[in-house]
Amino acid sequence: MVSSPALQPIEIPTWLGECLATPLPTTGPLEEKALIRAAFEFAHQHHREKEQKRASGEEYIVHPIAVATLLHSLGAGPEMLAAGLLHDIVEDTQASLEDLEQQFGPGVRSLVEGVTKLSKFNFSSKTERQAENFRRMFLAMAQDIRVIVVKLADRLHNMRTLEHLGEDKRRRIARETREIFAPLANRLGIGQFKWELEDLAFKYLEPEQYRQIQELVVEKRSDRQLYLDQAVLTFRQRLGEAGVAIADISGRPKHLYSIYQKMQRQHKEFGDIYDLSAIRIILDTDRERDCYTVLAVVHDSFKPIPGRFKDYIALPKPNCYQSLHTVVIGESGYPLEVQIRTLEMHQVAEYGIAAHWKYKESGGSNKPGGDDEKFTWLRQLLEWQSDLKDAQEYLDTVKGGLFDEDVYVFTPKGDVVSLTRGSTGVDFAYRIHTEVGNHCAGVRINGRMVPLNTQLKNGDIVQVITQKNSHPSLDWLDFVSTEAARSRIRQWYKKSCREENINRGREILEGELGKNGFETLRKSPRLLAVAERCNYQSVDDLLAALGYGEVTLGLVVNRLRDAARPESSALEMPRPMRETGEVWRPKSPILGVEGLVYHLAGCCNPLPGEEIIGVVTLGNRGISIHRQSCENLHSIPGDRLLPVTWNDHDTNRGRPLTYPVNVQVSAIDRVGILKDVLARLADSSINVRNVNLTFNEELVSIDLCIEVKDRDQVERAFAQVRKLQDVLSVRRVCREA
Ligand code: MN
Repeated sequence: MVSSPALQPIEIPTWLGECLATPLPTTGPLEEKALIRAAFEFAHQHHREKEQKRASGEEYIVHPIAVATLLHSLGAGPEMLAAGLLHDIVEDTQASLEDLEQQFGPGVRSLVEGVTKLSKFNFSSKTERQAENFRRMFLAMAQDIRVIVVKLADRLHNMRTLEHLGEDKRRRIARETREIFAPLANRLGIGQFKWELEDLAFKYLEPEQYRQIQELVVEKRSDRQLYLDQAVLTFRQRLGEAGVAIADISGRPKHLYSIYQKMQRQHKEFGDIYDLSAIRIILDTDRERDCYTVLAVVHDSFKPIPGRFKDYIALPKPNCYQSLHTVVIGESGYPLEVQIRTLEMHQVAEYGIAAHWKYKESGGSNKPGGDDEKFTWLRQLLEWQSDLKDAQEYLDTVKGGLFDEDVYVFTPKGDVVSLTRGSTGVDFAYRIHTEVGNHCAGVRINGRMVPLNTQLKNGDIVQVITQKNSHPSLDWLDFVSTEAARSRIRQWYKKSCREENINRGREILEGELGKNGFETLRKSPRLLAVAERCNYQSVDDLLAALGYGEVTLGLVVNRLRDAARPESSALEMPRPMRETGEVWRPKSPILGVEGLVYHLAGCCNPLPGEEIIGVVTLGNRGISIHRQSCENLHSIPGDRLLPVTWNDHDTNRGRPLTYPVNVQVSAIDRVGILKDVLARLADSSINVRNVNLTFNEELVSIDLCIEVKDRDQVERAFAQVRKLQDVLSVRRVCREA
């Protein structure tokens, strides 16, 4: 106990008490427990000098201690614990970031700095889409993911003590928690934080429903407990006979918010909800297949409900969560959910990315500020992921948020816009609207006029000044960073100066071929063939493109030479570039490849509406268009990647009517499963080109090649197939390139 004559004594948790008993070195850097002790004393002193109190009336230091204790429960290292103790110091007291760096090193400083920065944002979002942008901005701004974890702990303690605030503030904070913080905790896989944040937000946002469910849970508790105890006993016996080592088996009430969500989803009344509890079986082994042995015992003890089995071991959730879930009919005749997992899977489910700290850093070998503490978990995560196919999505979100080259800025109204790093006010203007970009006359960043080529930083508030008679300048092409801005500036020039551009293109070509040569060529079909080969629809389009520099003279001349050679295939309809790909000639449905030959990659089959990227192929086979999530991109060096997007305005001109897509359906093998899957696809008017079945014990993997119009059609069809009984998962697959 630390006490002062004027104040109430403060409760010191055991872990902190141990640190406080550690002597402080007289010289040299602070490490481990000494670092934590010094951080505590610093925070205590500074908050006390300000005579700061929590809304509860307690001494302020109670809050940093609680935050650090939450972090300690996740197995955080000394830097994070120190940052937890110091996180409100800069915001609330006289101490500066420089003071922190001097006393505790650059690592602690940057964590506190990150948390302080994030605290400045007001996340009162308007739409689901904006909420996602906020979450991404959060990830991007934090850079070091530990900042987010500290912030989550901060929020969790604030939610636990929310009752001391006024109604308006409570609702605002609770909504923010539901929209931003709980999903972030989920994304990082920290189940412990996620559930509690959700339940607390529920309590303040829908107090009436919260109370009803809480009462319901209490009311049925004794009956339910009896029935759970019986089931646990049965499982214990049966598993003992089977010789499986069990670390823990227990019944637990489900989280109130998850019960509420289920009622909403299934339109059920309170009385209709029976499975208020679940049994969790944690195996004392790291062998996955023992989980399936346990599953067999469970299904042998009680009757399973068909269609409710979920194999998150073979197909982990995007945040790495693994478990087997099944629902059986218990002795009372009511459904009972059973979750089966190994100890390691349990750690990941509870602590997410922090599970790694638990394993590796309890020994505490990290130097303050060292690369180690910051990135080992990430490397570990990547290693886990590399053998999990379906985890790509998780990587895209977490890693994307951390390393991806995005910058997040605000509109004057407070909406978040994400742009590629290096973007300028002009990129921002074109993102708002093409016409805003085309009439952009100036840009204000954080209220100050800046040159148009000023690069935007995270958190900037950007305002575009438009004028009716302003128009794009070709110089803008030198500094804009987004492909959308680039192509729209070109488009404007294309449209506004078309005659001029055609004339200039003609002059350029005449200069090369002579006037007569050009006229002869113009009358032959050769020039049109060349235009089409370069993805233009007409000779004028080609000349205009040549005129303002979208294609080079060299390229046109080369194509003409190719076309002149009798053995050349350039004049024929282009052949598929490879067996699985297709060549397109029409005017670009894809932006960013103007003047280039390109094809859709056969490995990942990109569809309109999906995020795509171009790869410059080796061996002169043009640009290959992949989905951004294509697994084969990992081995491609960055300098061969080309930013491309679907042309939203090119509705259907020259596009193929359907696209091939490779799909894998994983299901429990039963009579008629293939027929059911095919019937669902046929119902969605989807043609199936190819089917291949692979059997693995009770499971069947159905690999299909289907033909679809666009992403929406795929998603609708997937939803239909997922509804089928015994279907475990439906997903797009990437073939190896
Ligand atoms: Mn705080």
